Amino acid sequence: MHQKRATRPPLARPSFALPSFALPVAAVAATVLALGVVPASASTDLSEVSLGATSLGATSVGAAPLAATSLAATPVAAAPLAATSLAATPVAATPTGATSVAAAPTGATPAGAPPAATCRLPAAVDGLGSGFPVDDQALPAVGTLKAALLFVDFEDHPAAVGSLDEAETNLASGVEYLERVSGGRLDVTTTSSDGWVRMPEPSTSYPFERGLSYEDHVRYIGDAIAAADATFDFSDVDVVWVTATKEAPNITYSPTTNFLDVTADDNHLTHAVTFGYDQWRWGGLVLAHESGHTLGLPDLYLFEAPPSDPGNWHAAVGGWDLMGLISGSGPEYFAWHRWQLGWLDDAQVVCADPRRATTARLGPVAGSGNAPSWQDTMLVYPISATRAVVVENRQPVGYDEAIGASGALVYTVDTSVRSGEGPVRVVDSTPGSADGLDDAPFAPGTSWTEPTTGAVLTFRDGPGNAVGVTVRP
Ligand SMILES: [Zn+2]
Repeated sequence: MHQKRATRPPLARPSFALPSFALPVAAVAATVLALGVVPASASTDLSEVSLGATSLGATSVGAAPLAATSLAATPVAAAPLAATSLAATPVAATPTGATSVAAAPTGATPAGAPPAATCRLPAAVDGLGSGFPVDDQALPAVGTLKAALLFVDFEDHPAAVGSLDEAETNLASGVEYLERVSGGRLDVTTTSSDGWVRMPEPSTSYPFERGLSYEDHVRYIGDAIAAADATFDFSDVDVVWVTATKEAPNITYSPTTNFLDVTADDNHLTHAVTFGYDQWRWGGLVLAHESGHTLGLPDLYLFEAPPSDPGNWHAAVGGWDLMGLISGSGPEYFAWHRWQLGWLDDAQVVCADPRRATTARLGPVAGSGNAPSWQDTMLVYPISATRAVVVENRQPVGYDEAIGASGALVYTVDTSVRSGEGPVRVVDSTPGSADGLDDAPFAPGTSWTEPTTGAVLTFRDGPGNAVGVTVRP
């Protein structure tokens, strides 16, 4: 194996061994070291938040109670939706006065509306973001993703006998998430190391607890690859996953890099995720979150909590997307990001006409990969060159089964906003309620006026668990 270690990430791009940081990694590491704090304490809700927030001087205890609240929320709006009109035909649900849905009973673009491609807002930031196309450093999200899963242990923390199965099983649910949410468009092939691979250095030489730099991170990954190389074929690998033994709690958290620079078996390896002790708190969905970054998705929690809501790193999207909160009650990826990844067809996207009313009938986001042809999955209403209002339907099915309120979820996407700074912001139908964004979906019969354009969105029932939405400019 020839191994080349980058001393620094490419100059043209922000460093982000730790993708959640708005600051360059070196600056963050220096800040953390200067503060002398241990970042990934178990009291925080997101390991990435923990380190980022700590380095920014915020306390990190606010995140955990938030998640607890979201899981404890009671269902409010589920009943009215479920009660509607299974017998109604899709066309009958269309109100008169709205344009074009009656002409498009098959889920195709409504007559007169612009083609869906016009709503693909172009990316206006480098790196991870919500624009089109995804970052050119991202791995393809359609097709086969070939992952090398390396189980590593250390002389100071040898793996427990018989613990391999537990480690493998814990991450398997993350792979399952990616395949299910992609509607089968992403096929993940995992090849595991033959047992535990002993790292060349003790676990304490990798400073996860002391502010991990990009250099530290790629050294850790490079050491794992080198240690496994004698018995592992890296020649056909797209992404390297390194998971540390549960016996080494000082490998605290699970960062990602899209800027690895290691060649093994003549294959230049560029993407890696390392799973640390926090995987035992998150479960396998941490793999799906970090893999979202390797596919180009941004962090949707906030690296800095808003001054008006101190400590609330989840003020932008709450628990409505895995990239916002791994333990949220609604971890299905947003429809917008599915579209960005190629997991939704243009025919499932209704691009609203800026000159007249446009209507869509939205099936649940969960299962959108196998939706009936009459269902749309999202309505997009562009309000500037980089911003759009998106409406999708969240129902207690799939990975959303624990959501406390269902219906039309409205959010704005801004392709000029970076990862961790709020590229997606959910509109709360009940601002100021005790449930925060948990009860954000709009109930049938309600409406919302988009503040910058004055466009009015109205929401209605069904059929079935579908929701109807009309936007009137
Ligand atoms: Zn992240």
